[in-house]
Amino acid sequence: MAIAVLIARRHRVRVACGGRGCYDDLFPMGQTLLQKVWDLHTVRRLPTGQTQLFVGLHLVHEVTSPQAFDTLRANGWTVARPDRTFATVDHIVPTRARTRPFLDVLAEDMIASLERNCRDFGVRLAGLDDERQGIVHVIGPELGLTQPGMTIACGDSHTSTHGAFGAIALGIGTSQVRDVLASQCLALEPLKVRRIRVTGELPRGVYAKDVVLTIIQRLGVAGGNGYAYEYAGDAIARMSMDERMTVCNMSIEGGARVGYINPDETTFAYMEGRPFAPAGEAFARARAWWRSMASDPDAAYDDEVVIRAGELAPVVTASDPGVDPKAVREALEYMKLAPGQPIAGLKVDVAFIGSCTNGRLSDLREAARVVRGRHVAPHVKALVVPGSDAVSRAAEREGLADTFRAAGFEWRGAGCSMCLGMNPDRLEGDQVCAASSNRNFKGRQGSPTGRTLLMSPAMVAAAAIAGEVADVREVER
Ligand code: SF4
Repeated sequence: MAIAVLIARRHRVRVACGGRGCYDDLFPMGQTLLQKVWDLHTVRRLPTGQTQLFVGLHLVHEVTSPQAFDTLRANGWTVARPDRTFATVDHIVPTRARTRPFLDVLAEDMIASLERNCRDFGVRLAGLDDERQGIVHVIGPELGLTQPGMTIACGDSHTSTHGAFGAIALGIGTSQVRDVLASQCLALEPLKVRRIRVTGELPRGVYAKDVVLTIIQRLGVAGGNGYAYEYAGDAIARMSMDERMTVCNMSIEGGARVGYINPDETTFAYMEGRPFAPAGEAFARARAWWRSMASDPDAAYDDEVVIRAGELAPVVTASDPGVDPKAVREALEYMKLAPGQPIAGLKVDVAFIGSCTNGRLSDLREAARVVRGRHVAPHVKALVVPGSDAVSRAAEREGLADTFRAAGFEWRGAGCSMCLGMNPDRLEGDQVCAASSNRNFKGRQGSPTGRTLLMSPAMVAAAAIAGEVADVREVER
């Protein structure tokens, strides 16, 4: 019995009840979702201390996959699980016109490589002419590929988005893309779990983006190093799946390896009827299993933080927040801001609504609500880039595209667009951009001196109308 107890404590496994009662009564046995998913996907412990994890879904795009496929080809390897691999094109896709070949030779090369690689290795591809095309982190959930209790990997940092469904979703580099293609496995360091409970009501004009920017501001850009973030609390529970994806998407910007939310009825309602989700009887069985994957009420956490939603306000980031005074000084110089200068009223040149953080239908609805009946300031170039072709079609149907066009926004095709400078949508010189995307390091939007201000889509809409950083609560008054 002593041995059984020892094993139960070390591995935090549940021990079946015997005649004289259950060990659960004697020891805390609760597990987090991370522990459950991790244990279920463990192939073996490696001598390095890492765990070899099986990957349930590998999402692939054109930028981080060409060299990985080249290595497979050079070694005569195959893709281990094409049935668990799905590709799309997003990063370098021009959003104005998609005439082939692209003027950018490198971009054309990347798309052509992915098309060839998917053909040669039997991988499904939502390519340029496919109605399922879009940003990889938007289409995974849309298609029902992303499911609770899964391990998911993709060669993009913001893979944490899929954690909104109760998946353990990991951004990986090109060499790991090669590993996953060849073996469907990843070697990973163990992670601690920090539960971040967001409690209470969000005030008017405060969105999921403000919640996650506040979390990063309070815990720091490296505060999550070595952690998985579990987002919980009644404010998170009330969020739609779109909002939950926004929160999980930016976990990586706070240093966390993954971010997730326990699956619940909101998750299951979103999943039902999606093309790759289980259907009929299988859906009912899957739902019961997904429910069991959530963290137990008595799960132990390595750390816990509480954020009171009622205290939050719209957030604008002018630089990566940090405590290093030298870094802050350099960031302010780069942003051409004086110490203590209020960000409200700063003139903006470009307004960008889109990206895997905030390019979903509900984001476009919120932004359209702000711009309806108003017009973009004359000096501002404003664009809306839907996160996927499906989002674009739905927004057209709802009349959102017309609302944006009437307000002076450019309405573009789906892609990553101005989230990063790998396609024709780029900043020029030291332009200031109000962006609903997720990163603002030097040169991120294509110009080495371009300046990015991150905010919610509603705040971007307000900035586009005002021609300067503006509080959406004032604009809407
Ligand atoms: S929108 Fe940005 S963060 Fe998201 S997948 Fe594209 S490049 Fe990566």
